[in-house]
Amino acid sequence: MPFADLEDDLRAREAQGLLRHRRILESAQGAHVTVDGQNYLAFCSNDYLGLAAHPALIEAACQGAAQYGVGAGASHLILGHTAAHHQLETELAQFTGQDAALLFSTGYMANLGIVTALMGRNDLILADKLNHASLNDAAQLSRARLARYKHLDIDHLQRLLATASERKKMVVTDAVFSMDGDIAPLPALLALCERYDAYLLVDDAHGFGVLGEHGRGILEHFTLHSPRLIYMATLGKAAGVFGAFAAGNRILIQALIQGARSYIYTTAFPPLLAVALHTSLQLFREESWRRQHLRELVADLKRQLHTQRWSLLPSDTPIQPLLVGGNQEVVALSDALRARGILVPAIRPPTVPKGEARLRISLSAAHSKDDVRRLAETLNELGKTF
Ligand code: PMP
Repeated sequence: MPFADLEDDLRAREAQGLLRHRRILESAQGAHVTVDGQNYLAFCSNDYLGLAAHPALIEAACQGAAQYGVGAGASHLILGHTAAHHQLETELAQFTGQDAALLFSTGYMANLGIVTALMGRNDLILADKLNHASLNDAAQLSRARLARYKHLDIDHLQRLLATASERKKMVVTDAVFSMDGDIAPLPALLALCERYDAYLLVDDAHGFGVLGEHGRGILEHFTLHSPRLIYMATLGKAAGVFGAFAAGNRILIQALIQGARSYIYTTAFPPLLAVALHTSLQLFREESWRRQHLRELVADLKRQLHTQRWSLLPSDTPIQPLLVGGNQEVVALSDALRARGILVPAIRPPTVPKGEARLRISLSAAHSKDDVRRLAETLNELGKTF
């Protein structure tokens, strides 16, 4: 039988409570969604500022479609690089305080492209143990040696750097860890990279638009600037649209245009999205109340949630994971919330380490204070009876 081995594998996953299912979203992304015909309060998206269905973005996307059509029709290096893409790159460079920026179709592709363009067989990549899968995949694809340091452990990283024989080295880290919500100690990482002459690649997928007074991300949060920094962020999360970019000095960006294969060998993303993203950056500025409101929601949740049974991981970002432990228990808890009209995703291995299954509560400026109170109260109730 063809695929019999795959079928065995699927059965084994199911037995361990690890089979993944997709729910069908029938509304726009937001705090209140329709899923499989039912209305829910949802804490499942990375739409941190609540921009994904913002009327101004929808209007900009429609204008962009009217001007450029729907598809880019070609890669950036052939004839898919429109004025809208070009202008957005300039704006992203200015916004992040870098010399230049380069758009990629997704964050996954940006990480593959950046790492493989810069690193090769005789080089060393040092990665935080909890980095996003795309950074690990990128390191493997580059054929460099990959050494992973303990999560946030600067001393471990220092020992690895001190004993490295490779000449070319790159330290790679999430800025905000996607399943934990904690923040990388970037000033200390940068100091080590300077001492050992390594590049520093920072994936700010969850910080861009959220961290810093103006939402410029992790670099604003720590007031950091360095020519050895390679900044990367995604545009499908706080920016509410789709895509990603790398930013840094001009030589770096030129090298990526010439060598990043996931940039070169793919169709440019639809220009209407670049037009919408121009509006996202405007809203970062004009609707700064969204960041303020989001910070208040994070504080509210931490204050209002007081179940003894499960605890929130230490995080000050909109990613507020509730550590549950077992796979079956986390699924049961997520199901119990769903039965009460609340959607929160259960995150299980291999996305998180074994025994550390969790609810990944993600807050958005689209939530009201009442929404967050309802979640906290429901979890407090469930904690008593579960
Ligand atoms: N990096 C991190 C830290 C992420 O969390 C994600 C998305 N979950 C990505 C990269 C990939 O970004 P995209 O969804 O745009 O491919």
